[in-house]
Amino acid sequence: MYIKTVKFGGSSLADAAQFKKVAQIIRSDDTRRYVVASAPGKRNSGDIKVTDMLYKCYAEAAEGADFSATFSAIKARFSDIIAGLGMDLSLEDEFDVIETSLKESPNSDYAASRGEFLNSKIMAAYLGVPFVDAASCIFFNENGTLDAERTNAAVSEKLSGLTRAVIPGFYGCAADGTIKTFSRGGSDITGSIVARAVGADVYENWTDVSGVMIADPRIVKNAKAIDTITYTELRELSYMGASVLHEDAIFPVKAAGIPINIRNTNNPDAPGTMIVREARISRAGEITGIAGRAGFSTLRIEKDQMNSVVGFVAEILTILANYGIIIEHIPTGIDTMSVIISSSALEGKRDALLAELHDKVHPDYMAIEDDVALIAIVGRGMVRHKGTAAKIFTACAQAGVNILMIDQGSSEINIILGVDSQDCEKSISAIYNAFCG
Ligand code: ASP
Repeated sequence: MYIKTVKFGGSSLADAAQFKKVAQIIRSDDTRRYVVASAPGKRNSGDIKVTDMLYKCYAEAAEGADFSATFSAIKARFSDIIAGLGMDLSLEDEFDVIETSLKESPNSDYAASRGEFLNSKIMAAYLGVPFVDAASCIFFNENGTLDAERTNAAVSEKLSGLTRAVIPGFYGCAADGTIKTFSRGGSDITGSIVARAVGADVYENWTDVSGVMIADPRIVKNAKAIDTITYTELRELSYMGASVLHEDAIFPVKAAGIPINIRNTNNPDAPGTMIVREARISRAGEITGIAGRAGFSTLRIEKDQMNSVVGFVAEILTILANYGIIIEHIPTGIDTMSVIISSSALEGKRDALLAELHDKVHPDYMAIEDDVALIAIVGRGMVRHKGTAAKIFTACAQAGVNILMIDQGSSEINIILGVDSQDCEKSISAIYNAFCG
C-alpha cells in the first residue's frame, strides 16, 4: 500500500487557522497516514515560537525565578488553538505535570520538548487518530547520538499495528531514560525516522515555502524553486547555508531511498521540491542551486620550492589538526598554499597557531586574511559539461567581483568560489541571473 509520512513545521501549526489547513491537507489524501508535528511556531514575524518560550520558562525555573507569566503565555498559545478549533479538549493534567517538573527538577530538554508533545496531542485528538509518544520509540545512545537501528525497530513495531498516528517531532528518550531533544529544527529528523520505519513511499515535509529555492530569496527576489534535487546536491547547498531541512534529516530516508517532498502548507497545490537519490538531468549544463555564506578566513603560506619538500603540507595540516581546526578547502600553487577555515574556528588560537607554524615550517610569508565568503554552485547537470565554469566566471567578472579562490570537487557536482564577504550577495545574484534569469 502506498504510504506517506507527513511532517508539519512550526509555522504550519502556529494557530488554529493553520491547524485547519493541515487537517485539510491530511484528509485530502488517504495515504498521508503518519503525521509528525512540530511545536507552534511564529504566527507573524514579531511572534515568539513556543519552543523559545519553553526554553525561557526552563531558564527562569532553573534560576529559581517566578516562571508563572511565561508558563501562562505558553498555556494560552495552546488554549487558543483548542478554542479556535472548537474542540472539547483539556490539557490541564499535562500542564500540571510540566509545571511540577519545572518546579522540582527543571530539565531543559524535557521543557523544550513539551511544545511538540502538546501540539501532537491536539493534532491527534483533532484528527481522531492515535497519539504515539516519541519518547517510547526514539532512542539516543550514551554519547547523545541517535541510536538509529534500535529506533528504527521500535518505531516500526509501534506503528505496525496502527494505520494512522500522530508522533511529536524533535525529541526522544536518552540512554538514562530522560527526555532528550535533537538540535533545533529536529522535527525534520523525526519525520525522516518515521518515514523509514514505516517504509513510506515519500516523506512530505510541509513548511511555509514552496520548496528549496535555487538561491536564497532574500538575495534573489522571486528565486525559482528547485523541482528535483539529489540528497548529495542538497547536502552541498545546506552546508553552504541553504536552510530548508535539518541537515541530519536526510540520513534515515537516504538509507532507505525514500524521497523527501518539501511542500508549502500555505500553497498546497504547488508541487514543491523532490529530494531524491538520483535524478535525471533535464538540461545539460544547468545548475541546481547556489548558496553562499560569509565568515571564512584564509591562512596563506608561501615558501620557495614548497612543492618539492616531502611532508610540507602534512606538517601544516597536522598542526592545524592539533588545534582542533577543521579545514574547508586547500587550494595550492607551486610555492603557495591557502587553507580556508571558518573564522570562528580560529578564535583565541590565531597567535599561537601562527607562532607554531613559524617555528616548524619556516614560511617565507604567512598571513591570515579574514572576510572571505564561500559560494557553492551545485548541479548534477555540470558533470562532464563544458562551459559551466566559464559562465560562472563571466557572470562574476561582469558584476565586478574578484574571485579569490576556485575549487571544484572531483565529483564535478559543485564549484566553490571564495570571494570577498562584501561580494557574496552580488555574486549569487549574478550567477543566478546567468543561469536562471
Ligand atoms: N520546535 C523545535 C524548534 O523550534 C523543533 C522543530 O520545530 O523542528 O527548533
